[in-house]
Formats: sequence, structure tokens, C-alpha cells
Amino acid sequence: MLDIRSLSCLELETYMRERGLPEFRGRQLFKWLWKNRITSVQEVTEFSKELREQLAQHLLIYNLEQVSRKISVDGTIKWAFRLRDSLIVETVLIPEKDHSTLCISSQAGCAMGCAFCLTGKMGFFRNLDPSEIAGQALAVLRDITVAKPPRNIVFMGMGEPLANFENLLKAIEILTSDLGLNFSQRRITVSTCGIVPNIIELGRRSSAGLAISLHATTNTQRDRLMPINKAYPIETLLNACRDFNLPARRRITFEYLLLKGINDAPEDARRLSALLRGIPSKINLIPFNECPEIPFSEPERDSVLRFQEILKELNNTVIIRKSKGRDISAACGQLFYDRHDKKISGKDLTGCLSCS
Ligand code: SAH
Ligand code: SF4
Repeated sequence: MLDIRSLSCLELETYMRERGLPEFRGRQLFKWLWKNRITSVQEVTEFSKELREQLAQHLLIYNLEQVSRKISVDGTIKWAFRLRDSLIVETVLIPEKDHSTLCISSQAGCAMGCAFCLTGKMGFFRNLDPSEIAGQALAVLRDITVAKPPRNIVFMGMGEPLANFENLLKAIEILTSDLGLNFSQRRITVSTCGIVPNIIELGRRSSAGLAISLHATTNTQRDRLMPINKAYPIETLLNACRDFNLPARRRITFEYLLLKGINDAPEDARRLSALLRGIPSKINLIPFNECPEIPFSEPERDSVLRFQEILKELNNTVIIRKSKGRDISAACGQLFYDRHDKKISGKDLTGCLSCS
């Protein structure tokens, strides 16, 4: 059966029209789904009992099942949600001064196999559908009483959002509808390992922000860390960034994971700056969050600061991303569940979710 939370407002209008019902019923239903946050069609009191029953026979609303919620000492909250086939995804809410940022998963697992990433190690299970992507925001909004409501959304949870492209776009459409959750496109950021054709398409078809997980300054280095680089090497990736349809006053975020002895040398900082020349950019340095399963280490604080200094001297905008929620494993690492909710890692880890 069709999960109607995967349908945009327009599609719900079409759905109603095709069944001989007035289009505005679609709009009403969309509003009830996302603004009134109903969990079943029976709750739409604006509809007659007959209509509700008729719709309930053909339509499904799947509500993400909350498996756990953990709250960090720094206020970060991490949820695990069970999907209808029992796979688990995680969502994190990161508090800022006057708002919070919601970090959403786009896939269960990931097929990209980056060497530093536990989600990569876990492999790929499936794409999330639009209702499961946007539904994470809904589930969080329903549950938060302790934090400020989210203003920003980042696709930095589990999975590669540009490998689930159509569902991502649909979810963004749903999340930004003024009849629904009404997030601003400008406050949504999609993070990618570098699937070039879809970067270009993202620029054409949405005005969401772009974050690139660059993590290396030579192709030899990046080939080793991120297999996607063999398909779309650094020059191709950065050319796509140069061509990216960047809304006025915006910049592309470049995430740069610092791995001790691998990509944290002063020459790397200088090469990074040279590579980004001409691209409106800001750099987020992410000191690697260690986990036993991954054979990399976090650089000493001094070399992280030196790396940042070099970039600053070369006129780059650069911050060191604060790790939040480390005590509840929401700061970084990955979700590492087996197919159905049984943890197979010693740790309860979640994707690199600390965004500030
Ligand atoms: N697939 C997308 C989005 C999810 S990963 C992407 O790769 O961009 C979100 C961020 O977490 C990426 O920048 C990723 O490289 C980073 N990351 C993964 N494992 C990490 C770790 N152990 N420590 C720090 N950052 C990590
Ligand atoms: Fe996938 Fe991103 Fe992890 Fe790479 S870093 S394996 S693309 S989730």
C-alpha cells in the first residue's frame, strides 16, 4: 500500500482528482499529515467518516517507531528509529545558541565504502523513501520538549544522499512546503562524497546548500580513502563545484577530515587552499573521531590548529567542527547495526553528526 507521506502536496491533489474527489482535499490531507502531524487518516476530522474510511482502505501512514532516544550532557539528542522492515536509522538534533540543527539519514547503510567510515563498513541495505527521510523530522518534532525546534537540516546522517537522489529531492520538497513543516531551502544542506552528475542536478533542481566531503588533496590520497574518487577525481569534482548553481551570497562547505599522518601535513593545507581557489567556499575541519574498527587516528590538537592557521593565512574561511554528543556516540562514527536492530559493534555509533 502507498505511504502517503511520500507524496508531495501536488501529488496528493492529483491522487484525489484521479479518484473523482476535489483537488483541495489533497491539500487538506497534506496539511493534516505534516502540520497537524496525524498518525492515521481517521484523525482528519475535516473529512467525512465515509471519506476517511474510503481513504484508509487504500492509503497507509507508516509512523517511524522510536527505538531509543539518548540525550548528551551538551544537549545533543540522538534517536534511533525502526523502519517498516525493521531496519534502523538514526537522527540527531544538535543544539545551537538560538536554534538547533537536525541531522537526517538518507539510506540504511551506504554503498560508498569510504575507508574511515563505519557506515561504509556496514554496507548498503536500502534507500529510504521520501516518507522515511522527511518523517525523521516529523518524528523528532513530535518528540521534542527539551530542545529548541530545528531551523537547519543537514543530510549528514547515514548514507549518501546523492545516491538516493529522487527520494532526496522529494523529501526536500515535502520538508519545505509551506503547508507542511515549512523549512527554508536555504537552511537545508546536502553533504556528498562527490557523485558529480547529481551535484550538478542538485544545483539545477533545488536551492539546498551543498557540502562536499573532500578529505584529501591529491587523487592518490583520495583514491585510497574514498573509492568514489576513481569515478569522479578531484578536478572533476571541483569543476562541478565551480559550475554549481550557487544561490547568491552562499558558499559551498568543504568538509575535511583530519587523519593523523595521512592528510594533516602543512603541504596538505596549502594544497587544499590552492584547490579551492575561485570557489566560494568555507572549510570545516573535522578531527577524526576514533573507533576501534577503523585504523586511523585523530591528529594532536596542535597539528589541527596549525592546519587551520595555514588555511587562515591563505585567506580561507575555516572552522574546526566541534564534536558534540560524544558521550552518547552522536558526535561521529557510524550507525553500525546489522539488518534488524541487533547491534554488532561494541559501540553504539552514529554517522558524523556534529555540525556547528
Ligand atoms: N555520505 C555523505 C553524508 C554522510 S557522512 C558524505 O559522505 O558526505 C557525513 C560526514 O561524516 C562526511 O563528511 C564523512 O566523511 C564524515 N565522517 C565519516 N566518518 C567519520 C569519522 N569517523 N570521523 C569524522 N567524520 C567522519
Ligand atoms: Fe557513505 Fe558518506 Fe560514509 Fe562515505 S562517508 S561511506 S559516502 S556515509
